Amino acid sequence: LALSKFFDLKGNINVFCRIRPHSPDEKEAPVGLILKSLEDEIEITSGKMKRNYRFDRIFEPSSSQDDVYSEVEPIVRSALDGHNVCIFAYGQTGTGKTFTMEGSNGNPGIIPQTFQHMFYEASRESSVRYSFSLSMLEIYRNSLRDLLVPRSRGTTDPHGRSLYIQMAGPSIEVENLTEITIISANHAKFLYHRATRVRSTSSTTANETSSRSHCLVRISITRTFSHDLESTSTSKLWLIDLGGSERFSKTKAHGRTLEEGKFINVSLCALADVISALQTRQPHIPYRNSKLTQLLRDSLGMDSKTLVLVHISSKEDDLGETLCSLDFSSRAL
Ligand code: ADP
Ligand code: MG
Repeated sequence: LALSKFFDLKGNINVFCRIRPHSPDEKEAPVGLILKSLEDEIEITSGKMKRNYRFDRIFEPSSSQDDVYSEVEPIVRSALDGHNVCIFAYGQTGTGKTFTMEGSNGNPGIIPQTFQHMFYEASRESSVRYSFSLSMLEIYRNSLRDLLVPRSRGTTDPHGRSLYIQMAGPSIEVENLTEITIISANHAKFLYHRATRVRSTSSTTANETSSRSHCLVRISITRTFSHDLESTSTSKLWLIDLGGSERFSKTKAHGRTLEEGKFINVSLCALADVISALQTRQPHIPYRNSKLTQLLRDSLGMDSKTLVLVHISSKEDDLGETLCSLDFSSRAL
């Protein structure tokens, strides 16, 4: 049922919502929003305000990582079948984006589960030979940083290589980006963890790294058909932990933090503009407005598949940000 829903009822863009559970200390305090999820709809009530938002799928606070992955699996499968795919985690800082994508000890998220799933599927396939390679990069302010090279060779180092986006006909390449052939799920996980360490020790982004930059994992998939070894096809699977969507008020953020926030907001708006233009079948898709959308140009639209996982909190204090995230999702749906 989940599969048919995914492919038949909806087009190539799907939006899911995951509601973060309260942490143990929050459980005590009766501060939760009145937030009901009815079938595919979230209803938010606060005072006199009542709003409803529709999703393709809603994950309650009690949902497990496996519940989430079982709904994500078909889209990973379609990357193995030759489609370009983007999976985004969107939401305010602290709502569980990294938990969903990376997971925690004992609770693997989408990224490690995808590695596992890919190699499992590849081992079962006899008519197709797969090869996978991994790249990881970060978009911080308006620049791209390669996370799979040692820190001294990253883009922020004036002596290092710089990454730039190159368009070759319909496809996009990132010049100089490290790409490593992965031979097993464990190998991929090892590289992933090494890259996240590069990310968190970077001098420029040490301050709350993850909320101020976008982290992108790219898996390039090459298929060779055993009936015709000459014929290969390639596709890209992007797993993206977006920067925090919170708005930066001038009173709370100053200087660099405010600047960083602006870059994130501009790129998240550009992403929403692209997705909503695709959904409403506009003749012009505004890919050029941010590095993020430029980079993903060949993986958003046409026969690519997109999944946005919107993360929200159910804390009353977060109501403003929660409504913003939900409004983002209604633009994408
Ligand atoms: P974000 O990446 O959006 O800033 P995190 O993924 O870092 O948020 O989540 C913030 C905290 O909440 C982390 O300690 C994380 O482990 C925890 N958390 C988030 N979502 C869940 C969940 N669904 N179940 C249990 N813990 C969660
Ligand atoms: Mg995070």
